[in-house]
Amino acid sequence: MQTTVTPTHCPYCALQCGMNLVPAAGGGVEVAERADFPVNRGALCGKGRTAPEVLSSAVRLTSPLVRREGELVPASWDEALDRIAEALTRARTAHGADSLGVFGGGGLTNEKAYALGKFARVVLGTSQIDYNGRFCMSSAAAAGTAAFGLDRGLPFPLEDIPRTGCVILVGSNPAETMPPALRYFTELRENGGTLIVVDPRRTRTAEQADLHLAPRPGTDLALALGLLHLIVAEGRTDEEYLRERTSGWAEARAAAMAHWPEYVERITGVPVPLLREAVELFCAPEAAMVLTARGPEQQSKGTDTVGAWINLCLATGRAGRPLSGYGCLTGQGNGQGGREHGQKADQLPGYRKLTDPAAREHVARVWGVDPDALPGPGRSAYELLDALGGDIRALLLMGSNPVVSAPRAAHVEERLRSLDFLAVADVVLSETARLADVVLPVTQWAEETGTTTNLEGRVLLRRRALPPPEGARSDLEVLHGLAGRLGVEKGFPTDPEEVFEELRWASAGGPADYSGISYRRLAEEGGVFWPCPAEGAEGAEGETAGGGAHPGTPRLFLDRFATGDGRARFAAVSHRAAGEDTDEEYPVLLTTGRVLAQYQSGAQTRRVAELNAAAPGPFVEMHPRLAERLGVADGQEVAVVSRRGRAVAPARVTSGIRVDTVFMPFHWAGAGRANVLTNPVLDPVSRMPEFKVCAVRLEAVR
Ligand code: SF4
Repeated sequence: MQTTVTPTHCPYCALQCGMNLVPAAGGGVEVAERADFPVNRGALCGKGRTAPEVLSSAVRLTSPLVRREGELVPASWDEALDRIAEALTRARTAHGADSLGVFGGGGLTNEKAYALGKFARVVLGTSQIDYNGRFCMSSAAAAGTAAFGLDRGLPFPLEDIPRTGCVILVGSNPAETMPPALRYFTELRENGGTLIVVDPRRTRTAEQADLHLAPRPGTDLALALGLLHLIVAEGRTDEEYLRERTSGWAEARAAAMAHWPEYVERITGVPVPLLREAVELFCAPEAAMVLTARGPEQQSKGTDTVGAWINLCLATGRAGRPLSGYGCLTGQGNGQGGREHGQKADQLPGYRKLTDPAAREHVARVWGVDPDALPGPGRSAYELLDALGGDIRALLLMGSNPVVSAPRAAHVEERLRSLDFLAVADVVLSETARLADVVLPVTQWAEETGTTTNLEGRVLLRRRALPPPEGARSDLEVLHGLAGRLGVEKGFPTDPEEVFEELRWASAGGPADYSGISYRRLAEEGGVFWPCPAEGAEGAEGETAGGGAHPGTPRLFLDRFATGDGRARFAAVSHRAAGEDTDEEYPVLLTTGRVLAQYQSGAQTRRVAELNAAAPGPFVEMHPRLAERLGVADGQEVAVVSRRGRAVAPARVTSGIRVDTVFMPFHWAGAGRANVLTNPVLDPVSRMPEFKVCAVRLEAVR
């Protein structure tokens, strides 16, 4: 039995709260406070506090399963891995390497994300790899890269928030999604700063704001343009900053000036006096921030929308200056690190572009392969799922549950069923795993060591606190076993630190440079912000090779932006409609999101009794006037119907939502599966689906 205190991090969201694991009286581990980690200072939400329950859950998978005569039945690891290797080989022989798909997850550690990307490109030779993080922050990543030349969720630590003057929080509800982060906004207000929340719902976070703007879903872009229009009209731009540190202002200014406040009020429903109040609150202090989350990002114009909010920071001289700037509050546990190490369709480790010849050369050298043999970019997540059973005949899936979490989920489920072969690695028999030909039971956060990178770009060490149950293996062991069976004997170690050492080397010189970070440093320092180059270490031979260790980079862009000329670039963007608008047949807008006691597709949190008691199932949040119009009482079942499907859940009647909008959380399968409704229309740049707005009609279920 484990006898010591193990400092580690929560398995769930991007805050990556620090926690200690200690032996539990009845065996296993329980959570104890870890006050020395600065991000959460010991505070945890219910999800983190109860996380050990999933480790010993009765529904935990402890044996591989293979499908025989239509049923999933227990099998040995050898048989399961042999079956996968044979199926992948068969598909590749018959249809070519790109008939093999790989789908990863934003919850995988950096080491797993790295190994999975390498496995797809080196062992399978396929370009068809992407991951569920595409559904999370890809629009913010695309907009941040376009504006600043580099995307890191927050380019400053959370500790800067209480010391700024004003924060505009756009489409984010940390009171429910990451409660320990709420204290940063509470302290901001205690220090005299102001908080503006933009959300079509009066969320628990919005209730604490100085100003709540509730735009019609899908109109955040117009809202930002209207605010910029007023900033210009009121002469509140920073002309010196515009000259010295930006480019593209003339075009962005012209676009904003075409969005008169009254026009913006008509589009968004936000009254002009509130627009003026927001501008006053944002512009009055010397420092201010704009933080976005999934609200503006999960739209078919998510990249432009985030760009428009970044424009506010640039026009007022608030990016790349102390206590100011734009940031994205990433969602998944390793949402940041998961997008940096090669499981994204268009990227190589170190946040390098797959199309960059120098990047290909560098990474190919680390991997010991010919750069010309590396595949090019593949399809984005939804496009990959949509191609299952068509071009893509076999799929290996790790750390994701798209039957619940993907847009147009019933269609995605049907695509998964149409595959020749599906292999899923998971800790429980998720809705997606139930469709598989082979299911592999894998280890979890507290049973293995590995690194994650939180929403601040702070690289962290999760430590193994107890042995996995007999029968479970780590994802790294799975990839090792498959690589060997597919003829690649070397290059897929099972020791996470060995993988991290290679990742350091692969990332060296890239935008997300981890080469100066080691497990030893992470253990000693509690976390290191990237970029952290090893001095003179193209081969990452040691973080002190050229002198003292690089301290890491908590704050980016203070001297220059990461663009070629060092200037931030404005986005010249204009309002455009969402993929679907309301009409006679579908007269109401649906928006989706999360609730406090559940996490993502619920595959883990739905197994925790306390969380299930707090949030037992889906609901349809609606305004009393809409409920009255439909003749629906609070708690009565209501059907929500879109062009893609139908979901049924009880009504939750509240005045804290726009009358033209309903909200559904997306954590559940079954009749109330919200994502059967959502629209997979994609952002043209980020390929983000439009989870946040689609047209629906409502029917009372009698
Ligand atoms: Fe875990 Fe996020 Fe809750 Fe912190 S806020 S305990 S990281 S789920």
